[in-house]
Amino acid sequence: MRKILMIFMSALFSVSAHAASLINDTETEKVLMELVEPIGSAADVPDGRLKVHIINSDDFNAFVMGGEDIYVYTGLLTQIKSPSALQAVIAHEMGHTIGGHMAQMSSRMEAELKRAMLIQALGVGLMVAGGNPSLGAGVLAGSSGVAQQSMLAFTRDEERIADDMGLKLLVKAKLDPNGFVQVLEQMGEMTSVLESKVNPNRINHPLTSERLNNVKTQIKNIDSDYVASNAPTKKQEEEFKLIQAKLIGYLDSPDRVSSLYPNSDKSDAAIYARAIALMQAGKLEDARVGTQALISKNPGNPYFYELLGDIDYQLGRYDDSVEAYEKSLSLQSGAPQIETALALVLTERNKPGDKARAIELCKRSLLSQPAPLTYWVLARAYEDGRADWARAEYYHMIGDKKNSVKYARLARKNLKKDTPEYIKAGDLIK
Ligand SMILES: [Zn+2]
Repeated sequence: MRKILMIFMSALFSVSAHAASLINDTETEKVLMELVEPIGSAADVPDGRLKVHIINSDDFNAFVMGGEDIYVYTGLLTQIKSPSALQAVIAHEMGHTIGGHMAQMSSRMEAELKRAMLIQALGVGLMVAGGNPSLGAGVLAGSSGVAQQSMLAFTRDEERIADDMGLKLLVKAKLDPNGFVQVLEQMGEMTSVLESKVNPNRINHPLTSERLNNVKTQIKNIDSDYVASNAPTKKQEEEFKLIQAKLIGYLDSPDRVSSLYPNSDKSDAAIYARAIALMQAGKLEDARVGTQALISKNPGNPYFYELLGDIDYQLGRYDDSVEAYEKSLSLQSGAPQIETALALVLTERNKPGDKARAIELCKRSLLSQPAPLTYWVLARAYEDGRADWARAEYYHMIGDKKNSVKYARLARKNLKKDTPEYIKAGDLIK
């Protein structure tokens, strides 16, 4: 088993090593979605159209494409001080969209950016699913460039308009406008050394201090009876701390994890970050102890069971892993990544009925979030011509046209005509 995954990983890791990748994680996506939804509604984004994408990059950055696709960098997520500050960033970026400042981003650029990024799952630690390797290097090098450029390319006026618009959106959404002050102050601290050397009259990009003053003035003008009734709740703040801990546990070095979350810190977030870091370091039994502690304190949290499922899977305890993932799924609905993880373990365990359940889970997962890894697992679960179709879909998603066509042809040879998979395989040959 390990062997199969190792091959799978090395094939993709060689591509993703240099590449900025998108991260899939049900917990992170759900927490962020809940935070940005009020801003989407305030900006009149139709229900169900808003999407959050997480970019694995240390940059303190975010941008919005087409008014509906929000891209947030892990560097921003892990460093920003509160969910209200994050909402201010997103409102500002929405402001650029509404102000029409993104016009220079052609739709072609947008499509390329989307295609070029590799998708990587947190969870199960070793799940890596591909984007488009052939597009990879070139565009990816450019992909953070695109965002970078767009951020820097805004003029002073555009930044001011985006700030003003962002504040209006926050107020309309009944959120906390002071998040704006908080994030600008944080940005000020991050750039103060640089900015102290800049002559404001010689640059077109506004200084953070200038933006801060403008925002503070605007906030003073908000009605005195304004109540931020939609501001993040205590529960949302706790959830936000947990996703910060999760991202840091997965993405940062063990040293950084122990400096941010020393053993003396007994908060759930700290235990979570340390357990994940231990798992990543292969100290699975220790990781399990921390995870069990989290579960006994929070028996209703689906993501602690997800982590337990990941750890038990890597320990080779398939029965325990299946039980933990099933429990996780019973505590929430719509968790495509956990459905795929469970399906993977089931195809591995392969008791009677496991493959049928794995197929059912993959189908459900694909309905809400098509991902290469899910097709890969589905191909292992099917034992007839549909396996070749699923493999063709997998290669299609990672941009390997040659193998996609090869397996689609194989599928059509072995499948009955007019079955759904036969027809879908036909679409991949065109
Ligand atoms: Zn801006």
